[in-house]
Amino acid sequence: MLSIWFNLKNSQNQLPQLRKEISWIKDVPAQALQESIKRLDKAYTSFFKNGGFPKWAKKGRYNSLTFPQDVKSNQVNTFILPKLGKVRVFKNRMPNGKLKTATITKECDGYYLSVTFESETKNKYPTDKNQAVGIDMGITFFCIDSNGQFVENQRIAKKYEKQLRIANRSLSRKKKFSNGWYKKKVVLSKLHRKIARVRHDFLHKISLEYVKNNSLVVVEDLKVKNMIRNKQLSKHIADTSWSMFFDMLSYKCRNYEKDFVKVNPQYTSQTCNSCGNVDKANRLSQSQFKCTMCFHETNADENASKNILSEGIALVRQREALACA
Ligand SMILES: [Zn+2]
Repeated sequence: MLSIWFNLKNSQNQLPQLRKEISWIKDVPAQALQESIKRLDKAYTSFFKNGGFPKWAKKGRYNSLTFPQDVKSNQVNTFILPKLGKVRVFKNRMPNGKLKTATITKECDGYYLSVTFESETKNKYPTDKNQAVGIDMGITFFCIDSNGQFVENQRIAKKYEKQLRIANRSLSRKKKFSNGWYKKKVVLSKLHRKIARVRHDFLHKISLEYVKNNSLVVVEDLKVKNMIRNKQLSKHIADTSWSMFFDMLSYKCRNYEKDFVKVNPQYTSQTCNSCGNVDKANRLSQSQFKCTMCFHETNADENASKNILSEGIALVRQREALACA
């Protein structure tokens, strides 16, 4: 499929010759080179699939190196990597399991080593099969669940808005590529990283809480990307990072042997969870819900999250029935 532009096998076969011809290539671990070629192949594959041309790596943009095998560790705080030898690391927690890969990443304030371990997944948080939750993502609140819990939004971008503005301004006052400019650039990068870490922390805590306490977690299958194009909602959605939250729920459910289901969001906000009546007029306002048939009155988002849960349970039953048939 890729033979016109780029061929993975061919390029991998050319490596030994290249190593003879170009002196500095010898200093790079062979596996790391193979890994770079694989990344290029991935870029081209996604180009043919999605139509986005791969970005040419600028100097400074490509800042990580992956070792797919032969990563060892013989004592606390030390890893042994091919070609590089002993690498001492700080502030680590050594997990149990078999060492798989290592990646060195250059960040604004130094080098970071991330390693992957193979371990047996165990359900650390066993829950009753009936413990299930439906989650409705919100704008005023981060999310509302079927147990009636309203999770507050963090508004991270707003909190750091002023600091970001100051850092951006002082960077723009410096002469480009001067020493002062590089210093201010590090300050700005660190601030961006801080914001990302605060956001990650928030999402990790909430997602773990849901996975810990339930056997089934249900969310709406929102086409997050489409919604981001809608300008009114965009800033909030980007800010609250829904898709990242869904990814975390998904992999945590997989790790702890729980079920994670996405359901069709159509009608979840218009259906009465008490009697099943579907009517646009059920929803009085953004937050108020009153059924036109049974007059059941509730918070609109809480009603939606209960519908999400019902749909999820129905979907799981359907799957189980299919698996048995
Ligand atoms: Zn009703």
